[in-house]
Amino acid sequence: MSAKKVKGCEACPALCCSDLEDDILRPVTKEEVDNLKWELHFENTKVFIRSRRWYQLTLGKCMYLDKNNLCSIYEDRPQTCRDHMPPECEFYGKIYDVMFETPDDLQKFIDKEKRRKKRKRKAKSKK
Ligand code: SF4
Ligand code: SF4
Repeated sequence: MSAKKVKGCEACPALCCSDLEDDILRPVTKEEVDNLKWELHFENTKVFIRSRRWYQLTLGKCMYLDKNNLCSIYEDRPQTCRDHMPPECEFYGKIYDVMFETPDDLQKFIDKEKRRKKRKRKAKSKK
């Protein structure tokens, strides 16, 4: 994350300082799916998949983002912020392949995956 008007950030309203992205494990068991669905009950929480990896997104601005969308602790910002640079960021492209906004979105994806795996197993057994 940058939040300073560094090269490439000039026109951006500090998107990367307006939510928090955390990598999570893909839910496998029913309990894990239920837990993640429960997290998706909260309006500030989303989950997405990018390049097969799963992430939880918490919407909400960083406490150090000032009213001009600049980082007020720029010189002392964490390494994670220093590493997040354009053009590898949300301002320059979609950060996800699949986005889950509600528990229902996640359940539909899980059901679809189950059907896909079942079809694959069936096709294999016919060989
Ligand atoms: S999202 Fe990208 S362009 Fe916007 S401030 Fe962050 S690093 Fe800069
Ligand atoms: S510390 Fe600064 S660069 Fe990092 S998320 Fe907060 S406002 Fe953005």
